[in-house]
Amino acid sequence: LQLKLPKLIDSETAKESLPKRKKHGHKGTFGHCLVIGGSKYYVGAPVYTAKAAFHSGIGLVTLAIPETIYSHVAGTCHESLFFPLSDTGEFIDPKALETIDYSKYKTIVFGPGLGRECDGNAMLETLLKKLTTQTIIVDADGLYFLKNHLNQLRHYEGNIIATPHPGEMATLTGKSVAEIESARLEIAKHFATEYQIYLVLKGHRTILATPEGKLWINPHGNDALGKGGSGDVLTGLIASLVSQQSDPLKAMIAASYYHAIAAEELGKKSSNYGVTPMDIIQYIPVLFGR
Ligand code: AMP
Ligand code: MG
Repeated sequence: LQLKLPKLIDSETAKESLPKRKKHGHKGTFGHCLVIGGSKYYVGAPVYTAKAAFHSGIGLVTLAIPETIYSHVAGTCHESLFFPLSDTGEFIDPKALETIDYSKYKTIVFGPGLGRECDGNAMLETLLKKLTTQTIIVDADGLYFLKNHLNQLRHYEGNIIATPHPGEMATLTGKSVAEIESARLEIAKHFATEYQIYLVLKGHRTILATPEGKLWINPHGNDALGKGGSGDVLTGLIASLVSQQSDPLKAMIAASYYHAIAAEELGKKSSNYGVTPMDIIQYIPVLFGR
């Protein structure tokens, strides 16, 4: 496999990749994202995704979450619109996804907090049948089910972004985590080109890969991000940026860079021990404003 040298993400590239604010823009022009996820056991994940999206410029987010957790989530995420989904008492009922009108959303996030004991395969079948050109971002337990649909992905007309950490990448590829970690660039490139998707292979030195085989490395970030919720924040940033300007690679570059820089700067101000995903979210507007 021929590897062109990967590019390093720097501050200039990240800044250029940010969508410009439009003076006359309104919530209808800054994009609308639908986040499908949440379960009785993972209530905060979709909230972090939505809040990260709001703090990075999106116009609207609708949270499609199980009815079981709706009243709690609605009480913590006042910026969002809601599409409460019928559920099993624990997880989303897959039939509920057939009742959504997807045409008004620019971007669909599938997976944060979804859980694995639900019929995520039926949910993905519905999404791949009903969606046309919307950008789909698959994260977390959505990736656990995505492994059964990989061969359908290259036929999807819109863009697909997958955001696995090394453990999820191992599940997606059938390799071990050690194998993934020993050949991150090669595996990321092969996967993205084979299935014609955009890939964010997370972890220390996050790698971005495109369907054409372009590779980028993020040299930033630190162990302050090693906390539950960090990935949900990254997903919200990517969803927000791609909803505002449509280019998945630009969204991935800016999201991974500023997510990592927030961790570095906040870590320096206090320490890497206590920086939380919510701290990262709240620091994003400061970085975007520079
Ligand atoms: P997740 O495992 O889905 O919560 O995602 C964790 C996020 O934090 C990803 O964006 C990782 O790249 C990032 N992260 C976690 N630990 C580190 C680390 N030690 N150095 C850099 N980034 C990290
Ligand atoms: Mg995650």
